[in-house]
Amino acid sequence: MARTGNKNIQAKLVLLGDMGTGKTSLVLRFVKGQFFDFQESTIGAAFFTQVLSLNEVTVKFDIWDTAGQERYHSLAPMYYRGAAAAVVVYDITSSDSFERAKKWVRELQRQGNPNLITFLVANKVDLEDRRKVGNEEGEQYAKDNGLTFLETSAKTAQNVNELFYEIAKRLAKAA
Ligand code: GDP
Ligand code: MG
Repeated sequence: MARTGNKNIQAKLVLLGDMGTGKTSLVLRFVKGQFFDFQESTIGAAFFTQVLSLNEVTVKFDIWDTAGQERYHSLAPMYYRGAAAAVVVYDITSSDSFERAKKWVRELQRQGNPNLITFLVANKVDLEDRRKVGNEEGEQYAKDNGLTFLETSAKTAQNVNELFYEIAKRLAKAA
């Protein structure tokens, strides 16, 4: 019989990134296993919980998604406060969104805690034919800034569960 976790962690995870990069879609793919082609980007529940069980540890994620505030290129400090992990998302078909992601990373470095587990996510890899930001560009930037890098697609589910499992593993290790 599978062993249940003997340690419980509750962790706040925040999503950052330009409007339209797929933050809400990544969360919905992870939490509900679904994808919506015409996601209404300004409408969001903004808060989701999901539990992931690893070998010895159960991680309960409190996921904070924006309800469109990122449009104004700033988020209230309470959005990051107490976060254990952050996911900065850009869209591989938009160079602007990559530049914006770098700004979010800098903002996190300014406002966030130095132990914040931060992932850089290049989303929409299913749109390879429209790619504007090379894989190695994202990878190099992540490396230079101490971030973990992953390419994902909320549409095909590529690397989405992997993303949250990786974060859970890092949280478990840090706990
Ligand atoms: P948010 O503003 O960052 O929360 O972005 P949304 O999740 O609202 O997504 C914006 C748009 O991009 C929606 O039309 C989504 O259906 C679409 N989208 C999100 N993720 C992907 C993806 O991985 N691939 C493709 N092709 N479209 C995506
Ligand atoms: Mg959204």
